[in-house]
Amino acid sequence: MATNRLVCRECHRVNEADAETCESCASSSLTEDWAGYVVIAHPEESEIATEMQVTEPGAYALKVR
Ligand SMILES: [Zn+2]
Repeated sequence: MATNRLVCRECHRVNEADAETCESCASSSLTEDWAGYVVIAHPEESEIATEMQVTEPGAYALKVR
C-alpha cells in the first residue's frame, strides 16, 4: 500500500487516497499528514475508541497534524 491515504481532521477516519470527502462524517478537511494506523472493530469495547470518540467500526489514524 504505497498510496497516501487521506485522514479526516474531524473524526480521524482513514479514507481512500482519491477521496474528496470523509466517508464517515462528510467533512472535506482531509490530510495526508497523519501517523498511526488503527483498526477499531468494536468501538463500544475499545478504550482507544472511547478516547478518540469513535462510535463506528473502521480504520482510524492515531495522530493527525
Ligand atoms: Zn470524518
